[in-house]
Amino acid sequence: MRILLVEDDAMIGKAVRQGLVAAGFAVDWASDGREAELALANGVYDLVVLDLGLPRKDGMALLATLRGAGNPVPVLIASARDAVRDRIAGLEAGADDYVLKPFDLDELIARVRALLRRHAGSGSALLACGTLVLDPARRTATLDGADVALSAREFAVLEALMQRPGAVLSREALEEKVYGWGEEVGSNAIEVHLHHLRRKLGGNRIRNVRGVGYRVSED
Ligand code: CA
Repeated sequence: MRILLVEDDAMIGKAVRQGLVAAGFAVDWASDGREAELALANGVYDLVVLDLGLPRKDGMALLATLRGAGNPVPVLIASARDAVRDRIAGLEAGADDYVLKPFDLDELIARVRALLRRHAGSGSALLACGTLVLDPARRTATLDGADVALSAREFAVLEALMQRPGAVLSREALEEKVYGWGEEVGSNAIEVHLHHLRRKLGGNRIRNVRGVGYRVSED
């Protein structure tokens, strides 16, 4: 799952990025409104964490542009603007949630996960495909009730596939979900993760749809 973090405060940005990466997300960090706008035009994000007071383009203006263009990406505002009218204005402009600074990092991450679940149309905190079950908050996987040890990247690949069981994702789409800006991605990195996943889960769990990509299967 890939998140765009929009934050101009270096200390807060660094802390939030670290927290989100430790929670298993790929994170791109934009430090002004224009940079964020460009990223949103090109990138494929599952969620945006948005500060409001930003250089070059204010967060509220950015949100208006985003929604005006019909972009449905979930937006969590993280701002020190604490007046009730600011919170109402943010939500009415199309934000999905609002946290006040200073916030607790664990709470921010819990809200991110809740928004992602809501956006996926699932109230459940778990992702399941047959007897394969992922818990994104705890970063654990079980198969037929037994724990399966996965690396962070393996988990991220499997999580991307299990967001929509049965849907086919290309290698490029998986790379976009798993790696953020500036991360070195070997040409066959995704294939290596898939190879390890198949070894751990059984060869039929992840199907290769020739020339298209990969999908997760129930058996
Ligand atoms: Ca700011």
